[in-house]
Amino acid sequence: MCLPADALKSKGVSNFKRLKAVFAAGLVCLAAAVAVPAMAAPSGDVVRVRMGGSGSTTRIVIELDKSAAGKVVSTSADQTRHVLALGDVSMDAPMSGAGQGIIKDWALENDMGSARLKLNFRTGARIYKRFLLPPADGISVYRYVIDVVPGDTPMNTAPKATPVVTATVAQATPVAPAKRKKVIVIDAGHGGKDPGARGSKSWEKDINLAAAKALRDRLEKTGRYKVIMTRDTDSFVDLPARVRIARGADADLFISLHSDSGGDGTARGASIYTLSDSGSERIAKKALVKGDWSLNDMPNDAIVSRILVDLTQRATKNRSATFAQLVMDNIGETTPLLKTSLRQAGFVVLLAPDVPAVLLEMGFVNNAKDEAMLTDSRSRDAMMGQVAKAIDKYFENDVRYASLAGFR
Ligand SMILES: [Zn+2]
Repeated sequence: MCLPADALKSKGVSNFKRLKAVFAAGLVCLAAAVAVPAMAAPSGDVVRVRMGGSGSTTRIVIELDKSAAGKVVSTSADQTRHVLALGDVSMDAPMSGAGQGIIKDWALENDMGSARLKLNFRTGARIYKRFLLPPADGISVYRYVIDVVPGDTPMNTAPKATPVVTATVAQATPVAPAKRKKVIVIDAGHGGKDPGARGSKSWEKDINLAAAKALRDRLEKTGRYKVIMTRDTDSFVDLPARVRIARGADADLFISLHSDSGGDGTARGASIYTLSDSGSERIAKKALVKGDWSLNDMPNDAIVSRILVDLTQRATKNRSATFAQLVMDNIGETTPLLKTSLRQAGFVVLLAPDVPAVLLEMGFVNNAKDEAMLTDSRSRDAMMGQVAKAIDKYFENDVRYASLAGFR
């Protein structure tokens, strides 16, 4: 799954600054993280391995010249040894080095088509977060980041300074968990070298980005949401990376914005997609064979990556469908809808297993009326206002869905 050179050169993805800021905010102690030089020379897909962090959190960063998905293979009973696999990553020679902080040492070696990362810890520890950062401003490599915390750190709690406890308090008072902002990942479809559909005077990628920004601004203004964009410039971000951004961000909702095209230009209206069971395997196979992400058959954004197909969960799909219905109910007030406006398809960006996700086709760029609407900032913003309303409604009911699905 080698990426085109353009993907590695892509620049100006300033949203990753935002992304990094988000992670930094969650992991305060990493703010002072200092990168140390790699202990081994570049080897195959692995550019270098570096470490940072403090006593309470240690970060290990595997710099790669390609995108990769990782998974934990095994953890020893005393939690002093974790083994991870990085799929489709290979090396010319094994690498290893001394650790830092919690990490005693590490080793990377080839293992049947993937790279195996062995992490030895000084004491029992667990992996607090793992995520992939695609190339961003001035950084040409992918970074697979693993944050490790001591084993007794509670789940879902960012490591931080221990609060001062008044000695006279006889009994511990239960503390309500801090209200977490909902994390919304907005994915502006296409970008950079991939312009998407073409209208008479506009490109889909530009419309998608403008809409994504409008939606972001709406959501951020409420103070209730933390918004992460898969891109906020005209840059190319590959699809698996978009999915990983959603997962790495621990997103509560993923919305991908696209604009349709097709037919003789008479079709118009918005439609929305959630992930389907049927056909996704078939599309996945086709996509793998083609190694391409814009198949020409309808819908023209369809593409699936095999590794993600089997990861979908019914609960997530149900929540996606609920949200999709809310979006269509709301935008239907201001925007024409396609007759069959709720659809299911195997879009790769909808395949993060634990993130309810929809793909909204906002209208047809090759229809004159739709294009006029999509390129007009006022009507576009109005539509995004309706999407924001749908997001509000979705989370108003979130507790109910959560209890139904046994979620979080
Ligand atoms: Zn598209």
